[in-house]
Amino acid sequence: MRTLAIVGAGFSGTATAIQLLTRHGQLPFEVALINRHPNLARGVAYGTHSPSHLLNVPAGRMGLFPDREGDFLEFAAQYDNTLTAASFVPRSLYGHYLGARLKQAAEGAQAMRLQPVTGEVVDMRPAPGGKSAELTFADGRTLTAEQVVLAVGNYAPSDPPVPDAEFFHSLHYVRDPWAPGALDRVPLEAPTLLIGTGLTMMDVALELAHRGHAAVQYAVSRRGLLPQVHRQLPAMPITPPPAGLLEGKPSARRYLKLVRAYVEELAAKGADWRDAIGALRSQTSALWQALDLRERRRFLRHLQAYWDIHRHRTAPASGEKLAALLASGSLQVAAGRLKRLSGSPGGVSVAWQPRGSTREARLEVGSVINCTGPQSDLNRLADPLMRSLLAQGLIRPDPLRLGLDLDPEARVLDNAGRPSGVISYTGPLLKARDWEGTAVPELRVAALRLADRLAATW
Ligand SMILES: Cc1cc2nc3c(=O)[nH]c(=O)nc-3n(C[C@H](O)[C@H](O)[C@H](O)COP(=O)(O)OP(=O)(O)OC[C@H]3O[C@@H](n4cnc5c(N)ncnc54)[C@H](O)[C@@H]3O)c2cc1C
Repeated sequence: MRTLAIVGAGFSGTATAIQLLTRHGQLPFEVALINRHPNLARGVAYGTHSPSHLLNVPAGRMGLFPDREGDFLEFAAQYDNTLTAASFVPRSLYGHYLGARLKQAAEGAQAMRLQPVTGEVVDMRPAPGGKSAELTFADGRTLTAEQVVLAVGNYAPSDPPVPDAEFFHSLHYVRDPWAPGALDRVPLEAPTLLIGTGLTMMDVALELAHRGHAAVQYAVSRRGLLPQVHRQLPAMPITPPPAGLLEGKPSARRYLKLVRAYVEELAAKGADWRDAIGALRSQTSALWQALDLRERRRFLRHLQAYWDIHRHRTAPASGEKLAALLASGSLQVAAGRLKRLSGSPGGVSVAWQPRGSTREARLEVGSVINCTGPQSDLNRLADPLMRSLLAQGLIRPDPLRLGLDLDPEARVLDNAGRPSGVISYTGPLLKARDWEGTAVPELRVAALRLADRLAATW
């Protein structure tokens, strides 16, 4: 039996396996679904057990099948019949949903077999002739597959650019707040510094508060911008995208003008700016792909920080908890740059420069937590598999270091720009090609397309 290996069983790998099993289950091949940890169908986002971690997309939009958006809501309603399409539910329930649908899909397939494999893939070498690849696991096992899907997900953040590399080995520093047990060593009675002020910072701040953190949490980022909050609505609004966006010469400035005008137009009709941002979603990839490299760079430099906080919003209940932390002073958010981090008798001495000031400020904290969000620059990853693929020239980063360079069919491009016959990719590194590619509403479409293409060319 031939083998299709999926490396990574977070949302992307699991959804790809489910699509293969449900749509193409008559094909006689084995799907080896490989995950570093035994908890399949969870990944970084849905592996949390914390009740303070809610989905940031309404339940009615989280179905894993593009043509059945409401599938997750139907599943979740078995546990709570008060839920509506506009509810924001715990992320752990979503992991449970993915696991249940994977099991169903495996049981329903006629010929295709699902083979869950626990282990970390640390290397991959193409076989002579280029018709398969050999995967090597950290414990020395190997597996040969005719097709390989990289669904390796989000990588831990990189260390901040301060000159104190020694500090990053300190027990007072948490490099990856998503690593299992990472927050367990954060002292709850000492002040804490969170680097970053986005959704990761929010998750960490709320989780520490939930654990009884009794001192101040400081959060610093270059602009000090916090994520915006979703509305609590009885139903999900449907707003058409603005007309004319894809006409005319594409530029970051033009997009900004058009979006502002659309927000004003909707506001005049009594609608909310969030509806304008939501309405753009179906066109975001086309808008991104229409920009040349120079304009993409301009977007990243001037607009990305504002786009991110408006587009990637937090659930209303999380927003309320955050507002309460801010109002009580338990969480203090500032704009500025970190200058130095060094060990001190109480933990860590932090020197930072507030935005707009020439003076340095100081903080004494018990721990420093890196909340700067996933690293997408392949050249900065420590991951052995990605390093090996890069070193062999089998993959290459995109010019803006947002992810992987892929062809339209999601085949990875090698260092000469040739599409691979064996390796495909799905997951958040699609951002390089599609910009909008990091959350379930887009990733489920990517999973379906990939499954159909793999089945058609098998
Ligand atoms: C904290 C957080 C919350 C989020 N909340 C939402 C939300 O509410 N709604 C939404 O739509 N999106 C959300 N997202 C976006 C999220 O990126 C996607 O929804 C989705 O979970 C991404 O799944 P993935 O499978 O691509 O990646 P991941 O979840 O990162 O899964 C990748 C898996 O691959 C495994 N793996 C990686 N490398 C190897 C290897 N070499 N060998 C073996 N296994 C490997 C990892 O251990 C992991 O289990 C959130 C993201 C984060 C980080």
